[in-house]
Amino acid sequence: MELKKVVVIGAGTMGQGIAQWFVQQGIQTELADINEKQVRAAIENMSKSWDKLEKKGKFTSSQTEEFNNNIQGVDTIGIFTDADLVIEAIIEDEKIKNDLFMDLDARMSKQTIFATNTSSIPVSTIAKNLSSERQKKFLGLHFFNPAPIMKLVEVIDGHWTDRNISTSLFDWFQSKGKKPAKCKDSPGFIVNRLARNYYGEAFRILQSENKEKISEIDNVMKSVGGFKMGPFELMDLIGIDVNLDVSTSVWNSFYQEPRFSPHRIQKFMVESGRLGRKSKKGFYDYE
Ligand code: NAD
Repeated sequence: MELKKVVVIGAGTMGQGIAQWFVQQGIQTELADINEKQVRAAIENMSKSWDKLEKKGKFTSSQTEEFNNNIQGVDTIGIFTDADLVIEAIIEDEKIKNDLFMDLDARMSKQTIFATNTSSIPVSTIAKNLSSERQKKFLGLHFFNPAPIMKLVEVIDGHWTDRNISTSLFDWFQSKGKKPAKCKDSPGFIVNRLARNYYGEAFRILQSENKEKISEIDNVMKSVGGFKMGPFELMDLIGIDVNLDVSTSVWNSFYQEPRFSPHRIQKFMVESGRLGRKSKKGFYDYE
């Protein structure tokens, strides 16, 4: 597998991180979003991160110069139509993802591999309206946050995916230092299915918003449980809105089984604009 040009669509938390990681592999990368400001901010953040990493001696100045040259911000109409791979990292909404991929299917080279970074929606559901040739080139590549650092990538075959393509990508990720894992095409795959209970049980222990209890739960999971982040810190990092969408999607896919039920505190936080780090307010304050 050789990837020369990659397009990432969605310049939010994940799109930014995924694009940054591809650029760091020496690949020409385009980042697109319906919101132009989001693209500009994402590229600025990447540049700042490379500056910091250069100061720390992780990259040389010629590497960071190359990275800055290899990332381009575009609108969704202006993307490379001959990219080797397109990765979608937009809002967790089946209909919006379907519409985006149908549009891309009509416009992009027949050779382009399509991947979704969905956290919870089965890959075959997202590919259902695509041409049969493209369905063979469609798979799930689920990165974790922050994508330039987290090694795990869940690789998900859809119903029609050509196994040679997913196996080549699996090997390619491994050769670049990621730790890919093949997953079944089912709601939430492995991590996000298991993680529903990590968050859900934390809410049930919390019962009502209480800052002391929030940090107590997080601290116990870190200091005693050995987790890198407690459930509330992790939700602030992921985005409470994104986490609620994923919880709702998994819950609905399992015919509303109570063990996957989203919690009213999650919903209330989203409705009051407290989305976590990205809005500077979540379970913790980030001013
Ligand atoms: P986000 O809200 O930070 O960013 C989403 C971006 O998509 C926004 O910039 C928005 O303007 C853009 N967008 C929405 N509709 C679009 C369209 N039709 N065309 C182009 N751009 C569009 O979300 P995120 O946290 O980056 O999540 C993106 C995807 O990645 C979701 O499917 C989510 O489930 C998944 N994911 C998230 C995490 C996480 O920790 N946040 C981890 C793994 C996977």
